[in-house]
Amino acid sequence: MLIQNGSVIFPDRVEKKDVRVADGKIEKIADRLAPEKGERVIDASGLHVFPGLIDMHVHLREPGFEYKEDIESGSRAAVKGGFTQICCMPNTSPVADNKVVISYIRHRAEEVDLCKVRPVGAITKGEAGEQLADIGEMKKAGAVAISDDGTAVKSSRLMRLAMEYASGFGIRCLCHCEDKELSDGGVVNEGYNSTLAGLKGIPRAAEDVSIARELCLAESLGVPVHICHVSTFSGVRLIRDAKRAGVKVTAETCPHYFAATDDIVTGFDTNTKVNPPIREEKDRQAILEGLKDGTIDCIVTDHAPHHKNDKNVEYNLAAFGISGLETSFGFAVTYLYKTGILTLPELAAKMSANPATILGLEGGRIGEGAVADLTIADLGEEWTVDPAAFVSKGKNNPFGGRKLSGAVKYTIVSGAVKYPF
Ligand SMILES: [Zn+2]
Repeated sequence: MLIQNGSVIFPDRVEKKDVRVADGKIEKIADRLAPEKGERVIDASGLHVFPGLIDMHVHLREPGFEYKEDIESGSRAAVKGGFTQICCMPNTSPVADNKVVISYIRHRAEEVDLCKVRPVGAITKGEAGEQLADIGEMKKAGAVAISDDGTAVKSSRLMRLAMEYASGFGIRCLCHCEDKELSDGGVVNEGYNSTLAGLKGIPRAAEDVSIARELCLAESLGVPVHICHVSTFSGVRLIRDAKRAGVKVTAETCPHYFAATDDIVTGFDTNTKVNPPIREEKDRQAILEGLKDGTIDCIVTDHAPHHKNDKNVEYNLAAFGISGLETSFGFAVTYLYKTGILTLPELAAKMSANPATILGLEGGRIGEGAVADLTIADLGEEWTVDPAAFVSKGKNNPFGGRKLSGAVKYTIVSGAVKYPF
């Protein structure tokens, strides 16, 4: 396959190049390459060629909650969104806390054969926060990290052990930071809008004290740690200070934290209910600043698909989560690139190279000899979010009607075009 005339995004520059793909690898990159006999040619004139996007935080719901999403529908949503590789969280039923579930997810993803699916194993058995899961066994079965995402490990002693063991196995803890005693059944950000709407608030401190704990543990052990879905201005500050002090911390945020504020919850649309909650403008600004100055390393979706019955209930009873795989790239282009906050190589780092480095995955860069995971996009194309048209089973996305720039045209996984379908 030959990709002609595309603007190729390298780690340090963007250049118009032709890219030849053979045997699943990038074989040659040059100013001009002539098509060989029988070769498929993709005309990428006017398009940008990114290293295949990697989303290190999604929920695929299988096994156990296939009415919300399954590995096939989630993988379809991923490649439609431009993702060549995704990491799925372990809060399934049964929980992915052992080699059997981890192997099942990998094998099912291989059968589906759309994007690469890398399972994340649980930190504790059943995500119950009591006993460590068998980290070595899960790693051997293919887990790329451990996390009790959806909840936080309450016991600091257990978390310390988990970080120590994970580091011994060369994988990282991905920390969902929440002090449940502080979030205490809240459903939106605690502030003016929670008062106005009469909804119970979740204070920033619920997230921040937990981030601070993980930073202290990682620092004292000298091991790396990754902070999931940062939503608060104060959390960004904690991570920035820790990085400056030499703590081996990396962090991620999601489009809904850099592209929205809690003004949207006052309409009581349960699709705005997400954990951590969408915060205020000063948080949004701090997250943009954190993305710009490198405090926040990755953009993830925290894709959390739900059935309509989980959302068509009163706000307090609705499930937390946003279905985000099909809108993430558009949000990043619109709110980070078009606004001048990130350059294209920086955007590609946050959506591809950094997740690959943090988790030790293949991909993440374009170069001769690298795996041919590529995302080709039209950055000028404008489109309107329409959750009803999602291929994900989860149509729970509060941004219907929002105009975005940046449309995915081709998703290429190990040299095979997986999108368009
Ligand atoms: Zn989480």
